[in-house]
Amino acid sequence: MSDKTLAQLDQIRANYLALLERIETITLLQQQLKTAGLCNGSEYWRKEDGKPDRLYANHGEGQVCDIHGQHKHGYRLRKYIGSNPGKIKECMDMMERYREWRRLENQKDEIQDKTSLLKNRINHISMYLL
Ligand SMILES: [Zn+2]
Repeated sequence: MSDKTLAQLDQIRANYLALLERIETITLLQQQLKTAGLCNGSEYWRKEDGKPDRLYANHGEGQVCDIHGQHKHGYRLRKYIGSNPGKIKECMDMMERYREWRRLENQKDEIQDKTSLLKNRINHISMYLL
């Protein structure tokens, strides 16, 4: 094995470890978001004349929400939040945190793809050592 190949291998290993660290950081951030509360529903407003706008949290069919649970028959769960500004903000914050959690999840998937690619490369180059 040439010095150049060894240097290449070291570089790939370093990249690989950096990505693993990145996954750890993202996982930690996701745990913090989850602890603060996540709602995977989307907002639905009911507006009627003479009444304050009322918020509902709409969830997908069979979807399970950390906060609101799930429909007992597996249908779409529509959870009434109401018109209280504090409750509305609380719910929308939970939805926003969920979107952020999802974004991080996608990021993690991409990084995981990269790490398996690097792992294959490391294995491939290491074969020449045998
Ligand atoms: Zn929810």
